Amino acid sequence: MGDDLSIVRSARVSYDASWRKTTTKTSGDAELIRYLKRNGHNTPFESVVFTFEIIAPIFVTRQWMRHRTQSYNEVSARYTELPNKFFVPELKDITYQSTYNKQMRTSEMNEFANEIREELINSYERSYASYEALLMLNCPREIARAILPTGIYTHFFTTMNLHNLFGFLYERLHKSAQHEIKVYAEAMLELITPQVPIAVEAFKEFQLRIET
Ligand SMILES: Cc1cc2nc3c(=O)[nH]c(=O)nc-3n(C[C@H](O)[C@H](O)[C@H](O)COP(=O)(O)OP(=O)(O)OC[C@H]3O[C@@H](n4cnc5c(N)ncnc54)[C@H](O)[C@@H]3O)c2cc1C
Repeated sequence: MGDDLSIVRSARVSYDASWRKTTTKTSGDAELIRYLKRNGHNTPFESVVFTFEIIAPIFVTRQWMRHRTQSYNEVSARYTELPNKFFVPELKDITYQSTYNKQMRTSEMNEFANEIREELINSYERSYASYEALLMLNCPREIARAILPTGIYTHFFTTMNLHNLFGFLYERLHKSAQHEIKVYAEAMLELITPQVPIAVEAFKEFQLRIET
């Protein structure tokens, strides 16, 4: 819902400007959006709202749902069986535990990447076989799910305004964010750019800190 012009309209009500019918954006609009972002006047950005449909592993979703300013609806493993779909990393992403930062990993590929991936897949297969065995015993779904690992995919909708989306992207595009959530943040930034191109440019210039 909304676009760059919604931000401009919300901001201009401050001086009771007349409602703009035209959708053609002017250089004054761009300047105003840049001014708002530069100076932390955030509420006009709340007039734009996005909903994303996400399929992500539970370990990514746990990080995601720490962002309390988004509204979520997620598949229920009480209502339905979770499909046999698990996160399998690309070999290049299987690196080493960092020794200088306790929560991060290094960038060079692990010499045992193949074995690590095999172990993950074997473990997923064993877990899912146990899940199915429990369901065959008429175990309630809400109990059987306890055996599933956080690498299994879940499915949810998330809705947030642009101000809070920028807050999410600011944290999850940072180099200290886990790669597996960062790729979602990168995709979201790409998806919203055609809808709010001026706001995205201002976000990149004044809020985002991508350190190399
Ligand atoms: C790299 C990284 C590592 C992390 N590591 C850990 C970790 O080890 N352990 C851990 O538990 N979490 C960790 N987190 C999660 C982090 O602590 C935040 O919970 C998460 O990033 C959401 O941020 P937020 O609270 O600003 O976002 P939101 O919940 O979207 O809130 C946005 C802003 O709204 C305001 N707000 C929202 N709710 C309240 C409230 N109830 N009271 C007051 N103000 C509120 C705050 O100003 C907040 O900054 C990590 C996050 C990142 C990015």
